[in-house]
Amino acid sequence: MAMKYSRLLVIGLDGMTFDLYKQYKARGIFKNITEMMNKGVYGNLKSVIPTDTVPAWACFYTGKNPGKIGVYGTSKKESFGARTVSSKDVKSRKIWNYLNENGYTTGLFAIPLTYPPEPVSGFMVSGMLTPNIKSNFTYPEELKEEILRISPSYRVSFEVKKSETIMDAINRSFEARVKVATYLLGKRKCDFVMVVFNETDWMEHFMWKYIDKNHPFFENNKKKEEEVIDFLGQVDKTIGDFKNLFSSDTNIMIMSDHGAGILHGHFNINDWLIQNGYLAMRKKQKGISKGLAKIGITREKLLSISLKLGLRELTKQLPFWIRRSIPEEKNVIEWDDALAFNYVDWEKTKAWALGNGIYINTKNPEEYIKIRNNILSDIKNLKPPVGNDLNITTYKKEDLFSGDYLDGAPDLIPLFGEYKFLLSTSIGNNDFFTFDKVKRSRNASHRLNGIFIAYGPDIKGGGKKLEGTSILDLAPTILHMYNVPVPEDMDGKVLKEIFKGNSEPRRREVKYQRAGKEGGERGKIKERIRKLKVGERI
Ligand SMILES: [Zn+2]
Repeated sequence: MAMKYSRLLVIGLDGMTFDLYKQYKARGIFKNITEMMNKGVYGNLKSVIPTDTVPAWACFYTGKNPGKIGVYGTSKKESFGARTVSSKDVKSRKIWNYLNENGYTTGLFAIPLTYPPEPVSGFMVSGMLTPNIKSNFTYPEELKEEILRISPSYRVSFEVKKSETIMDAINRSFEARVKVATYLLGKRKCDFVMVVFNETDWMEHFMWKYIDKNHPFFENNKKKEEEVIDFLGQVDKTIGDFKNLFSSDTNIMIMSDHGAGILHGHFNINDWLIQNGYLAMRKKQKGISKGLAKIGITREKLLSISLKLGLRELTKQLPFWIRRSIPEEKNVIEWDDALAFNYVDWEKTKAWALGNGIYINTKNPEEYIKIRNNILSDIKNLKPPVGNDLNITTYKKEDLFSGDYLDGAPDLIPLFGEYKFLLSTSIGNNDFFTFDKVKRSRNASHRLNGIFIAYGPDIKGGGKKLEGTSILDLAPTILHMYNVPVPEDMDGKVLKEIFKGNSEPRRREVKYQRAGKEGGERGKIKERIRKLKVGERI
């Protein structure tokens, strides 16, 4: 008997929050989203901690907490240093692997942390953390040419060209993605389709101070606010256009990987660790930038040299210099820049911070606990900057993660003022708490609650508000919709309550399967997929 399947379209809006929806609903720009909410189900989608794009999307597409996939942020700790993660670091099978081996084709567009792309039955266009437009970011490989033909200005990551404002860049990137996604969805029909837009997140990071009167650096600028409203209207219009690309038997999910809100400032964690005797540098931090400057190394010079000469090795070694380049010479060293690590006295260092967490530098279990407890109590006693309540929560890794890959996890993850202060790992700042970056650059940070809306023939109607939905629930729920047994090692649960009473996914029992492992089995599956006659369905 042929297996009945429901075609599903998932639209990912990075960082989207219902707060923005509520704020601008009265402007009439959210017609499509409102319709889907009213005729479907919706609710907050609880993300993971660390509440970042990476790992959150990987947690979505595996249905697992970061401890089972080994990814905790965009940079990964290497013995004494760090590098940018790639899809190869995700130590788990993904929903498309399970769908493919059950005979379903998958069209995957711009999902973060999917570079390098993997062979799938269908197509895959890699998303955020694709190095650059020259990278082979598609499967099949020749799809890239097609994309660049459809949209020569297609962008794989956030970049602002000289002639552009930030909103220009965001709008152009969004238009290009919509154009390419529309083309792919129309031409390469798949059983499961997913598209992600990061532009919502970028907009929030850079425009929040224009739309939130409570922002400490609020700027009353109607023109900028209108630009935000126009953009959000485009997002809603796109959702409607995508809906119309499919027939009425398509179910649709709209989701985000986290929410967004005010960013007040940064806590310079490595400066603090240095000052409190946890992190030891071989030279005084001022000496580092001076030393580098003396031999002619500044971020900007390295950036321009490496771009000009196309020194692949150099750019590989220093990806953050490229991606976070700010055109100014300053005395602060970005910690993530590989060179900073050369100045750490690892013998004397007890702890250091990278990305969103603190790593303890000892192999001795007793010392580990002692250092960790000391940091916990020292952080608790931190004096907040004037006028701020820090409300610090510091998680130990075992509070947040479970699985086989806890070794690479940050040992401590401090959250300040519900994300209002972010960790900054740069060193040589004037103060532990600084506000200059927020003033001149990103002025929003993430929040734990993202959005989830489901709508379609199998979905319960009536605009029921869901409670307690986790980003980890979506992978098992999607597999269940396709009647694919849910792997036992997924952390999420099937959201049966979203389905209509008489629908098949509601009536059908949830089936489970033993977890698929990496290695030989995976190789075999990949081979099988390569041999599949993709053309039949596409
Ligand atoms: Zn995100």
